[in-house]
Amino acid sequence: MATGVLAGTPLTANEALEVLQADDAEILNLLAAAFLVRRHFFGRRVQLYFLLNAKSGLCPEDCGYCSQSKVSTADIPQYNLLTREKLLAGAQAAAKRKAKTYCLVISARSPSEKEIRTLEQIVPEIKQRYQLGICASLGLLTPEHARRLKACGVNRINHNLNTSSQYYAEICTTHGYQDRLNTLLASRDAGLELCSGGIIGMGESPQDVVDMALALRDLGVDSIPVNFYNPIPGTPLSQFDGEKNEIANETHSEGGKSADTENFRLTPNYCLKVLAMVRLTNPDREIRIAGGRELHLRSLQALGLYAANSLFVGDYLTTKGQLPEADYAMIGDLGFEIVAD
Ligand code: SF4
Repeated sequence: MATGVLAGTPLTANEALEVLQADDAEILNLLAAAFLVRRHFFGRRVQLYFLLNAKSGLCPEDCGYCSQSKVSTADIPQYNLLTREKLLAGAQAAAKRKAKTYCLVISARSPSEKEIRTLEQIVPEIKQRYQLGICASLGLLTPEHARRLKACGVNRINHNLNTSSQYYAEICTTHGYQDRLNTLLASRDAGLELCSGGIIGMGESPQDVVDMALALRDLGVDSIPVNFYNPIPGTPLSQFDGEKNEIANETHSEGGKSADTENFRLTPNYCLKVLAMVRLTNPDREIRIAGGRELHLRSLQALGLYAANSLFVGDYLTTKGQLPEADYAMIGDLGFEIVAD
């Protein structure tokens, strides 16, 4: 499989599905294939990112997985866009934690004029002080938003497809998959790099995961964050009892149903298969193990880096990550190295 991919033959949809449906006993073979491809394009390097939840909660959208949605009752902090001092402190923390990119995220359908203006002022200052790349995740963007963000020095826009086009209506009704695509296309037209990935474990089928990975390949996004759904109590999707994902899981682990979590029954082995499949379908793209890493990969976290080449260091938007020292130790134990410049 890896030989064909490295020779330039794209993985087919059926082959990608076979990766997700492989017996758990095949996991090391799948990771070995993914690692051949990862090593070819990225060696043993690991790129670190640092997230700041720059505006939290009170979002008018109804994304069922999100603790910051208006329909969520999750107990999370709620605040408007952070002050200049706090945004600068976040940049300092990013640099201190060896991240090369500072990801500024706001909860919103779209950024307000005031929020865009704040970014126009702060982004040049952050870049001048800390030499960090800036990725902005601001919700739906117009072409004008995208042009202004590019002009002030934002390098990259994050806007996740999250799932397949056919499953999208199951996770959100206030905007659609096409709205997300339009934001990505407007951002690319403005000259911004694209970061777009998904969330695994929201009740979707393995076919949905494959369709999303192939859509990201077709878009040619630069960076792919793979999140594993962390069902925070109070979010609508957390009220599933795991039934949907249990069914999805049974289709991919006939030979060895490895330890289920009580949460949506994502298993560490399934998460690894997803990472391997995303690497094999998007061979030369940056792939980041994102939210839910600690919860769902558990003791197999390190193996994920044989497929992925990037991590968030520090906390996620509304949940805690493991300590940076644990990430550095894991990377060191693998014999991998953090990208230094
Ligand atoms: S638009 Fe973003 S912040 Fe708002 S509910 Fe959806 S994912 Fe959450």
